[in-house]
Amino acid sequence: MQKNKGILTVVSGFSGAGKGTIMKALMQAHSETYALSISATTRAPRTGERDGIEYFFKSREAFEQMIADDALVEYAEYVGNYYGTPKAYVEEQLARGKDVILEIEIQGALKVRRQFPDALLLFVTPPSAEVLKNRLIGRGTETMDVIEHRLARALEEAEGLEEYDYLVVNDVLEEAVREVHEIIQNEHYRVARN
Ligand code: 5GP
Repeated sequence: MQKNKGILTVVSGFSGAGKGTIMKALMQAHSETYALSISATTRAPRTGERDGIEYFFKSREAFEQMIADDALVEYAEYVGNYYGTPKAYVEEQLARGKDVILEIEIQGALKVRRQFPDALLLFVTPPSAEVLKNRLIGRGTETMDVIEHRLARALEEAEGLEEYDYLVVNDVLEEAVREVHEIIQNEHYRVARN
């Protein structure tokens, strides 16, 4: 396989679609191949989340300083909080030949596509809206109010689906992980993007 330079992949999907679970499994199965970018955010940590593992948790002031320093590949506001991708890590890992994955929402995905026209955009969806709602409620980490906001936002994001290269339905976890891996690895064989 020709593998000089890493592939940059953006994974988006409805909050509750299981992106995080897929990414964790993908990293465990292929830790040599992939590097998962850790975003900065102003949202409060959920129970069990650790600074520097799931996110770099920042104050609004600290986040705005990162914007001013041009230290982010992209950033966006999502349900009242900032989220952004630190630039240095992405550039380093791509240069080392790692396939870098950004798990980010649609506004950020479109900004990445403008900066990196070869980036691969994947969208992960649960098999139905019902499953989506049940996963959000079952997770038990957000209030009903936030869940309603996140569902409304999911509907908005669905309108941007046509911007993505691939759609992965997360019904059976192992299958979704295999599909994501195959899609990204096939990209190494591409001769040219049209
Ligand atoms: P959550 O609060 O559920 O962890 O994330 C909310 C949304 O923000 C998800 O859709 C997630 O993919 C997105 N997100 C996480 N990090 C980033 C980032 O660095 N940039 C952008 N644009 N979105 C992000």
